[in-house]
Amino acid sequence: MLLQKNEIYETEITGMTAEGNGVCRIDGFAVFVPMTAIGDKLKIKIVKVLKNYAFGILHELLTPGAGRVDPDCPVFRQCGGCTFRHVDYSTELRYKSGFVQDTFDRIGKLHPVFEPILGSPETFHYRNKAQYPVAMQNGKLVCGFYAKHSHRIIPYTACSLHPEIFREILEYLLPVLQKAYVSAYDEQAHTGELRHIYLRKGYHSGEIMLCFVTRVSIRKKLNFLPALKEKFPEVISICESVNPAKTNVIMGKNVTVLAGQNFITDTMCGNQIRISPQSFYQVNTAQAEKLYAIAKQYADFQGNELLLDLYCGAGTIGLSMADSVKKLIGVEIIPQAVENARENAQRSQITNAEFYCGDAGMITQKLAEQSLHPDVVILDPPRKGCDNITIQSVVNMQPDKIIMVSCNPATCARDSAIFAKNNYITKKVKAVDLFPNTAHCECVLLLSRQKD
Ligand code: SAH
Repeated sequence: MLLQKNEIYETEITGMTAEGNGVCRIDGFAVFVPMTAIGDKLKIKIVKVLKNYAFGILHELLTPGAGRVDPDCPVFRQCGGCTFRHVDYSTELRYKSGFVQDTFDRIGKLHPVFEPILGSPETFHYRNKAQYPVAMQNGKLVCGFYAKHSHRIIPYTACSLHPEIFREILEYLLPVLQKAYVSAYDEQAHTGELRHIYLRKGYHSGEIMLCFVTRVSIRKKLNFLPALKEKFPEVISICESVNPAKTNVIMGKNVTVLAGQNFITDTMCGNQIRISPQSFYQVNTAQAEKLYAIAKQYADFQGNELLLDLYCGAGTIGLSMADSVKKLIGVEIIPQAVENARENAQRSQITNAEFYCGDAGMITQKLAEQSLHPDVVILDPPRKGCDNITIQSVVNMQPDKIIMVSCNPATCARDSAIFAKNNYITKKVKAVDLFPNTAHCECVLLLSRQKD
């Protein structure tokens, strides 16, 4: 039987992909159905048929699968942010744990010990950062979220993954921006001014940064900033980043301060952490602190180690371990983040840390050539994973242990498989959910050098 577009089929969801699509099989043919749960007995409508699989949408739910709940968000069906608002958290964790294991099995062909997934203490209001795209809709300046696989903006200011105060700030800002004749950026025409409103809040400190990302500067129009600061005294940093490019990249090259300072400070694992708008900072602080603690436990430091922290951002992971090692070297490509890392060490009276700015691969290669022999290497790359030069240079330095931290299990499994070919065996994997309600999941791995 060949599946027909627009036809309705009765079936059952039996699996879940890493993207959060339920999977069912119709005559052996895999059909992916978003917003379903394993165990759902349902009718689906086929919307797209490809050579080896098809996509369907839920037409009628006949019997709900385990863990189904009514989505509590009014924009869940349109917004591209959340994937699992229709199942409870323990079900979501079960799915995530399953697809992390599948990924290591399928891509890495690795069979480490999978430790139980660690759920987040907070499943709502856990994010410390949001970047809201701005649009003019029906004569009103709005901001919100992109629809799935699209740049259509779904206006919404009350996202329950974000701190409540973000909504208050947005609701204050949008009318005053409109009154000040600030126009919304139009991506198609590449006209208009305001592209994104970017907010960040220190989880422990409560300090807030507001950054306007614009196509052309709007600073002369923002005469309401003193009033805003008075209404929201937590907002201690107001910046603008002009990004004139036709690009999906949100931030421009530079950031200028409009009021207050160009950073906020938070604490992480007891250390003072300064963060600039350009610096990466884990979005779920409380859970990231637990993630770092697991990484530290995996490293099992004895006190005299040389620790190399690659892709170190503002230095947060390495600094959380500095008191347990002899020396820490961090490497990061964004200059402002490196500057933050150095200040963060200083402000926390950490004197055994050094940070280099540059590409992880290039710097690691140089360090390997200089016969640097770290005992432990931490790798926490962006979603695309590590490049071969970085992996090869780490292998050349022959550390005893490699701790990988990754927000993308697929590239992480791929990279661990390369390490496995170079005598580094993945011993343990622990999924740590930093991103409740979304399809994303972090994991932390221990790789050990096999002694010959
Ligand atoms: N370990 C940090 C940051 C992890 S995110 C933390 O836990 O907060 C990944 C980091 O890698 C980002 O800071 C990003 O700027 C940096 N990065 C991306 N490409 C890089 C490269 N080629 N070389 C070095 N750092 C890079």
